[in-house]
Amino acid sequence: MTSIYFDNAATTSLDSRVLDAMLPYLKENYGNPSAIHGAGRTSRLAIEESRKTVASLLSCKPAEMFFTSCGTESTNTILNAAIRNLGCKHIITSPIEHHATLLTSQKLAEEFGIEVHYCKHQENGELDYDDLLALIEKVGPTNKTIVSIMHANNELGIINDIDRIGQACKKHEVLFHSDMVQTVGHMPINLHEMAVDFASASAHKFHGPKGKGAMYINGSVKLEPLIFGGGQERNMRAGTENVAGIVGFAKALELSVGDMLEENNHCKELKDYCWAALKENLKEVELGTSCNKTLSRVLSIILPHTPKTEMLQMSLDMKGIALSGGSACSSGAMGGSHVMKHLHDTACVPLRISFCKSNTKEEVDTLVKSIKELLS
Ligand code: PLP
Repeated sequence: MTSIYFDNAATTSLDSRVLDAMLPYLKENYGNPSAIHGAGRTSRLAIEESRKTVASLLSCKPAEMFFTSCGTESTNTILNAAIRNLGCKHIITSPIEHHATLLTSQKLAEEFGIEVHYCKHQENGELDYDDLLALIEKVGPTNKTIVSIMHANNELGIINDIDRIGQACKKHEVLFHSDMVQTVGHMPINLHEMAVDFASASAHKFHGPKGKGAMYINGSVKLEPLIFGGGQERNMRAGTENVAGIVGFAKALELSVGDMLEENNHCKELKDYCWAALKENLKEVELGTSCNKTLSRVLSIILPHTPKTEMLQMSLDMKGIALSGGSACSSGAMGGSHVMKHLHDTACVPLRISFCKSNTKEEVDTLVKSIKELLS
């Protein structure tokens, strides 16, 4: 049984206020939003009010916001449409993106013969902006291209300079998608100012329900859907809407944006406290990245590879402490993490400690004490 949860970059607990907002749409208000009767209209109204809330919190028009089943679906829809119906022949991305971007790009390359270009990174995992901008300048002007770069990396927490990339894309008439799954609800987002054409988000990263995503499609671009069927989401995402999930997305975002400053300060304090304690108690611990522009709630560390460190995540789990060995989908030692493999030559064991508003210093003390005991 988990009693201490430090895996908030993988997913967060559902805020009880979000659950309260969702419950009526799982119980009494169950009308199909496409139906014309009153029950249907109640559901439709809830969806459109939620869309307005989300659009206003992320500074875009409601017509530019579409609900999907998850962040992965949003990214799949956008990259597929860029190749299938906008005629892009090139994708520029990074080798340390989430698999939603990497595997979709690879699949599109296999199916459509398009080219995928990977930009370089500095040793600490920061984007090599000179290389990325040179790539945009070289590939972009003569070929139809989409750049897909995440706002913040889910394993290292590094925050990318989206404005700089967006301006370069604009200059060279290249489309720009950003996977904002780790930043929506955690950082101020102004989609219209950010020079992005497309963005992906996911509710379960900010105390909303799992299985509910959203995508931003700038009003000047027209895309085809990934899933065909009914005309839901203005023909961009067929399938009867998950009304409760949509209401939960909007409520969770509203609460997260309202609590953002306080939550970020709290997480940053825990992160600094945790790092200082780890450093004091473990001789060989290092930061996963020396970059100082990282998410307040993500602390990435690495330990030398030994039989004990290799088992550490599992040993902590047995003590009721949950954290991740990289990202949720690449847990275990470095062998599982494409991000760590890309950045570190020598074998190491990465650990990602990710905080939220309900974590405490006492929990951090227990974590550090447990790690020390397990490695001694
Ligand atoms: N992109 C990033 C950066 C993520 O961290 C995740 C989740 O781990 C995803 C995409 C996938 O989001 P979802 O779980 O909603 O499909």
